[in-house]
Amino acid sequence: MTRPNILGERKLDLSSFSLAQEFGTPLYVYDSCIIKERIREFAAFDVVRFAQKACSNLAILDLMRRTGVLVDAVSAGEIRRALAAGYLPARGEHPEIVYTADIFDREALDLVVEHSLPVNCGSPVMIDQLGERSPGCGVTLRINPGFGHGHSQKTNTGGAGSKHGIWHTQVAECIERGARYGITVTGLHMHIGSGTDMEHLSQVCHAMETTALEVGPTLRSISAGGGLSVPYREGEQRVDVAAYFEMWDATRQKLASLLGIPLTLEIEPGRYLVAEAGRLLTELRAVKQMGENLYYLVDAGFNNLARPILYGAYHPMKIYQRDHQSNKLVDVVVGGPLCESGDIFTQEEGGFVSTRRLTEAQVGDLLEIGCAGAYGAVMGSNYNTKPLAAEVLVEDSTAHLIRARQSFEEIIRGERIPTS
Ligand SMILES: *Cc1c(COP(=O)(O)O)cnc(C)c1O
Repeated sequence: MTRPNILGERKLDLSSFSLAQEFGTPLYVYDSCIIKERIREFAAFDVVRFAQKACSNLAILDLMRRTGVLVDAVSAGEIRRALAAGYLPARGEHPEIVYTADIFDREALDLVVEHSLPVNCGSPVMIDQLGERSPGCGVTLRINPGFGHGHSQKTNTGGAGSKHGIWHTQVAECIERGARYGITVTGLHMHIGSGTDMEHLSQVCHAMETTALEVGPTLRSISAGGGLSVPYREGEQRVDVAAYFEMWDATRQKLASLLGIPLTLEIEPGRYLVAEAGRLLTELRAVKQMGENLYYLVDAGFNNLARPILYGAYHPMKIYQRDHQSNKLVDVVVGGPLCESGDIFTQEEGGFVSTRRLTEAQVGDLLEIGCAGAYGAVMGSNYNTKPLAAEVLVEDSTAHLIRARQSFEEIIRGERIPTS
């Protein structure tokens, strides 16, 4: 049934078709080798903490845990996931699970207290809420240094336009709030988006130094946060992780010597560890010409991958031809099945529809949307009563189903028609 495709990647071609055959489409496929390679790049940091919100499937968390990566949780559900994946709540020298958020909802506060989880506070009032329930603990503060950087307004995590973190001028006030409950500030955290821009990074390190000196010798750790970008487009520069470490390590060493204490240096990547490891396999279900535009409509939509409609994000795409061979290239608009005109994978920020040059394809061919491992499956929804996609992890040359495709019964579970 399958033939080698024009790029000569027979093996990959066969495996994409056989994965689609076995597990159906749309299908997320993760490559464990790429995740492990990315983890190794951070070996110089004392602690690598995975921001699980980027890709929180239990099997991915288990892989992280087996590979020595600790975890960050931003909700009660993510705390439960971390526990379900085998992370331990005990407070070691390097706590395995940290709760980071700008609020405690009631369930998250209950869980944090129940398991004595360390909290990275993103709002001053969290110190009081925690102090009333768990006096005498240590907290880390997520600091908003007053400036930001990010690939879109929606991902910029610093500055007055961002809701995240404790404003940098309120550190003394937070220390005072903590003191009322015997709470000490043991760590500082700055996650403000960024990536390849070393000029910006040096500003962040400088802000960290200023804030850390204000906190003083109760500090045990500093965290560089996440925000490392990945090359989504061919030719985009990869983050120089070694240079990133050098800069943060210099800050750590300088602070350790000024404060006269050892300091742990943490990094907290989400996207960087998983983005390139994941791809979304979809089947082409319609090809149609509409005026000047040729449309390829596939069986995945923004219910499966929301980054294009949310941020105008670019994802690499590739066609696998099933029963034909052509190396003709065509400019196409790629869209999904949803009854919503924004359900287009080839769009730019602001919703402007663009085209992509792909090999000519027919109904039944596969379209692979690459670099989809981060903020892909986790942002899936049931819009249009579509099931969440199945997910597969390839490890040791075996494809493991790590999330079964949702059934209709699972989608409507919990819905009730009132009986009068
Ligand atoms: C989202 C998040 C991260 C990871 O961000 P990436 O851009 O995916 O690296 C790290 N830390 C915290 C607290 C986050 O909320």
